[in-house]
Amino acid sequence: MKIKFASLASGSAGNAYVLTADGRSLMVDCGIGCREFLKRAGEAGVDPRSIEAVLFTHSHDDHVRGAKALKKILPDVKFFASALTAEAAAEKTGLDIDDFLVFEHGQPFEAGAFSAQAFSVPHDTPDAAGFVVHAGGFTYFHATDVGSPLESIGKNLEQADLAVLEFNHDEILLAGSNRSERLKRRIRGPSGHLSNHEAASLAARYASARLRKLFLAHISRECNSPHLAEREAAEALAAAGKGRIPCLALAQDEVAVFESEV
Ligand SMILES: [Zn+2]
Ligand SMILES: [Zn+2]
Repeated sequence: MKIKFASLASGSAGNAYVLTADGRSLMVDCGIGCREFLKRAGEAGVDPRSIEAVLFTHSHDDHVRGAKALKKILPDVKFFASALTAEAAAEKTGLDIDDFLVFEHGQPFEAGAFSAQAFSVPHDTPDAAGFVVHAGGFTYFHATDVGSPLESIGKNLEQADLAVLEFNHDEILLAGSNRSERLKRRIRGPSGHLSNHEAASLAARYASARLRKLFLAHISRECNSPHLAEREAAEALAAAGKGRIPCLALAQDEVAVFESEV
């Protein structure tokens, strides 16, 4: 089976990730506009018509903004979200609540060619989710917008062949940034975002020998850098004897592609 992963956008200005197995695709989040989506899909060599399903992590704008426009160009695409995410996303985007198929955390469901399962992540919106997605024996892990590096999230990471994990901020850069104290508290808090340190520790503890690549996602432009995130991840993995796992920071405005035969 031919697996392809493409990050089309990653960060607080928009998120869109596409996983393809033998030509059939699933997208996680649709937080970029239609024109941008089509342009980046083209750059990544992703055929938009191959996308059969979109899984939504939560209802923040940077994850749902492009959903309505996507539905216009891909009328048959199926949207999956938790009940509260579906409700909030429908209200935000002008989609109908019936445009969403609702999943329960921990219950496997079929999404196009894939079997998926959501798990709960703490974030400052109700019912936020991460995902494990299976295609044959291949497992993809996805968690961005995660307030705390919970063991339950790590347990899902353990089974992954490919993982996208939030490395939002560097704690020192966040402290020194000119963001308000209130916003800093929110970002650091248990329902905010993962720091490099938290994410690296989680990955170092739970990544298994199966993991072929760790993508570092939702990197803050003001309070982090790809280099810092990659260094923190690589050092933590090496210290745990897992230094062979390659890490790559995803960018807000550049596509990244991973391909493998499994
Ligand atoms: Zn976000
Ligand atoms: Zn969010």
